[in-house]
Amino acid sequence: MQQYDVVIIGAGAAGLMCAAQAGYRGRQVLVLDHAPKAAAKIRISGGGKCNFTNLNVKPEHYITQNPHFVKSALARYPSSQFIELVERHAIDYEERSHGQLFTMQGAGQIIQMLRQECDWAEAKIQLNTHIHKLEAQADVGFIIQTSEGDYMAQSLVVASGGLAYPKLKASDFGHRIAQKFGLNVMPSRPGLVPLVFKSSWKDWFSELSGLSMEVEIRSAGHIFREAMLVTHHGISGPVVLQTSNYWQPGQPIEINLLPDKDVLAELKQLKSQSQSLNKWLSQLTTKRFSQAWLAKYPLDKPLAECTDKELEDYALSLSQWRLYPEDTAGYDKAEVSLGGVDTNEVSSKTFESYKQPGLYFIGEVLDVTGHLGGYNFQWAWASAVACAQAV
Ligand SMILES: Cc1cc2nc3c(=O)[nH]c(=O)nc-3n(C[C@H](O)[C@H](O)[C@H](O)COP(=O)(O)OP(=O)(O)OC[C@H]3O[C@@H](n4cnc5c(N)ncnc54)[C@H](O)[C@@H]3O)c2cc1C
Repeated sequence: MQQYDVVIIGAGAAGLMCAAQAGYRGRQVLVLDHAPKAAAKIRISGGGKCNFTNLNVKPEHYITQNPHFVKSALARYPSSQFIELVERHAIDYEERSHGQLFTMQGAGQIIQMLRQECDWAEAKIQLNTHIHKLEAQADVGFIIQTSEGDYMAQSLVVASGGLAYPKLKASDFGHRIAQKFGLNVMPSRPGLVPLVFKSSWKDWFSELSGLSMEVEIRSAGHIFREAMLVTHHGISGPVVLQTSNYWQPGQPIEINLLPDKDVLAELKQLKSQSQSLNKWLSQLTTKRFSQAWLAKYPLDKPLAECTDKELEDYALSLSQWRLYPEDTAGYDKAEVSLGGVDTNEVSSKTFESYKQPGLYFIGEVLDVTGHLGGYNFQWAWASAVACAQAV
């Protein structure tokens, strides 16, 4: 049986970062992954350009049962440190809206950088490895039986990620390990995911599919303003993905289609100048959207004949358009999963489980989900670095 100081399950963002950092501390590290390639999610992230962090990372950008949990790791490894690492590897990057940083040449560079760091730190990565059995043994640590042999480790780090995107080998393995050792796991659901509609709404959106417009969406007390993209099944785009983290089935969402406009004042002006509603709305959105909107929400009489109350109601239909999504598009289309290993079960400083000494959880397997914008990777890096100091 081969012996290591640290075995890490999952060669994704958090696992590779932790491996390199622990390796630099002189720990003998082995990373195991059942997938044929390391860090598959990094490769497809950010549309292939990897939104690897954000210039403005705050605890408020994270959703977790215990909002204080993320503070320590994020403070100890701010995004500036990851940016420094990226610069040391001569990776070109650009800042996009909302402080989001993306590689210029492609996400593969981030994977290459992490693998290079693991090589320099002499941390071993072993892919295509299926874990059959895990056991904790007093004085020994952990025994890990796999398709490629058996291993012993003092510390076991679970970095197996969340449930989103199962076609890239996402699994609930980390949650099952937590449960095996008696840790609580918060229920999971898809996050950063499109919202879908059924029957007539689905058909309505499908007709408009491909359309993109900047809107403001309010849901469950949270408000986001970014681009909305209409799809064949409903709505997507950054503003919808952000909203999906907070939306619960059965709840409405409220869309302000014209967030820069005082819609009532404009309708009153249109009325006084006897102008066309269709022309006005076409100019502010698109001809296609305006026509579809007016077919769905026609004014039952000419603008000139509308009372102030009728104008007010119509203005509200545009600025507080209330919709009831049927569901999310599910894990297949989600960027993350909400829920995961209960943050009350692990130390926010070391990420070690309180119930099982030597067992650590980092990255998305924990009940920590970031907003869209590089926050999820920053969580993976920061939790990995904190854990690597402790293993
Ligand atoms: C399409 C898409 C785009 C995204 N874009 C961005 C972005 O631009 N910016 C951002 O911040 N976040 C983005 N994310 C989210 C981000 O990818 C994740 O939050 C991040 O990868 C989580 O890191 P992790 O190391 O915890 O898990 P992962 O990176 O998912 O790594 C987990 C690893 O564990 C392995 N594993 C799972 N089960 C087992 C098992 N049973 N045995 C062995 N190994 C196992 C997996 O194969 C995987 O390699 C995106 C996600 C998706 C799906």
